[in-house]
Amino acid sequence: MASYDYDLITIGAGSGGVRASRIAAGHGAKVAVIEEDRPGGTCVLRGCVPKKLLMFGSLFSAEVEDAIGFGWGDDHADSDDGIAWSHDWGGLVTRKNAELDRLSGIYQNLLDNAGVELIAGRGVITGPHSVRVGEREYTAERILIAVGGWPHFPPVEGVADHGISSNEALELSYRPDEIVIFGAGYIAVEFAGIFNGFGSKTHLVYRADLPLRGFDEDLRKGLAEAMEARGIILHPGCTITGVTGDDNAKDVALSDGTTISADTLMVAAGRKPMTDGLGLEAVGIETDQSGAIPVDENSMTPVPSIYAIGDVTNRINLTPVAIAEGHVFADTIYGGMARLMDHRNVPSAVFSQPPIGSVGLTEEQARQDGFDPVIYASSFRAMKNTISGREEKTVMKLVVDQSSNKVIGAHMLGPDAPEIMQGLAIAIKAGATKADFDATIGIHPTSAEEFVTMRQPVG
Ligand code: NDP
Repeated sequence: MASYDYDLITIGAGSGGVRASRIAAGHGAKVAVIEEDRPGGTCVLRGCVPKKLLMFGSLFSAEVEDAIGFGWGDDHADSDDGIAWSHDWGGLVTRKNAELDRLSGIYQNLLDNAGVELIAGRGVITGPHSVRVGEREYTAERILIAVGGWPHFPPVEGVADHGISSNEALELSYRPDEIVIFGAGYIAVEFAGIFNGFGSKTHLVYRADLPLRGFDEDLRKGLAEAMEARGIILHPGCTITGVTGDDNAKDVALSDGTTISADTLMVAAGRKPMTDGLGLEAVGIETDQSGAIPVDENSMTPVPSIYAIGDVTNRINLTPVAIAEGHVFADTIYGGMARLMDHRNVPSAVFSQPPIGSVGLTEEQARQDGFDPVIYASSFRAMKNTISGREEKTVMKLVVDQSSNKVIGAHMLGPDAPEIMQGLAIAIKAGATKADFDATIGIHPTSAEEFVTMRQPVG
């Protein structure tokens, strides 16, 4: 039998790679992880975590606006002291970075405690059982690719030279005065909310009629209205045709003939699997049209000793999905448990302002999938907004399969939607019917209770 340096070499110490590695090691495998940065990956170092920390910071300006209706006032408004509040951008970024250092240290400890060796450097696959890092070659019975994705810039003149991605947006040394954000997916709408909340004049430029393609239409409309009402300048049906300028001032030309002058251009037009220079050609693995590594239901690539999980496979590009795929892989291969990853009913959230939570099928997807859906919907002004004066509407929707009465989709735009959706996802995963929802007593007064009190289907 061939002998290898390791049972498993994982390339990439992000959330998925770390989970797979430490579970495999827990099952007794000898494991090494290769990582060119520090442990943590996109979510911890360049994505979910820093984004949400900045989002928390940006929410306070709307809270202060809302507070006025509840009787709070600025005691200094009529004096020479100026406004009572200011914002220290540099201080926030420093504290955010300290938190990322702490979390990366936790990832390092998780690996150490599991007995996983961390090899620093860039891993290049050289054969079905070998990976090179610098001058040194390591061998393993299996290789797990968990390298994630990277921001993609559309090939428009000036965009790559003048634009930053979410990676740099999280590290800015200044708070933009005026920012153009290109795209209207998860990242674009989340960062639009962040910069707008911190007071930057914020433009969102996108080619569709509404942001967030793939989400429920009514939620998309509601979000567009709310973003506009909060001060974000929307440019629907537009692309960027060219960018000129320098580090401090850019002229961003749009397809509708207008030009925006801004100090910052952020590009959030999707991400691509990070396979460049990975050595896939050495083992004959061809990526698909999106650049993703093809895998079967066991996350195995066409080369039986090489597996791939997470964003590099472009299945569902969410951290908890990568983690689950890694855990299933390790349990199946090293734990003697024949598990399969279930990609159905994965809940997700968009931390826009207001946020969105969603699980299961939208109305449109249900029809496309051959269901005859019955729709229950509600749109209302959340109780807090009645006194704050904020016009924003909360939108909720349940998609019910007529024949089985099962709830096959739940969607919400409004305060706490991500928190609410986590609980609903359990019910939907467990196969709850509309009758189960109806039999559940609401918690009063909350917005969430609306999910168990919607009785009349919409037309
Ligand atoms: P998305 O795929 O969500 O959105 C990409 C956006 O860019 C869309 O608006 C798309 O328009 C637009 N776009 C793409 N190509 C072009 C082009 N050539 N010209 C003009 N516009 C273009 O990507 P993101 O970068 O926002 O996010 C990447 C992934 O990260 C997401 O898929 C998500 O899974 C994950 N993510 C999850 C988060 C969460 O869970 N909260 C947060 C952030 C990211 P159109 O719709 O018209 O194609």
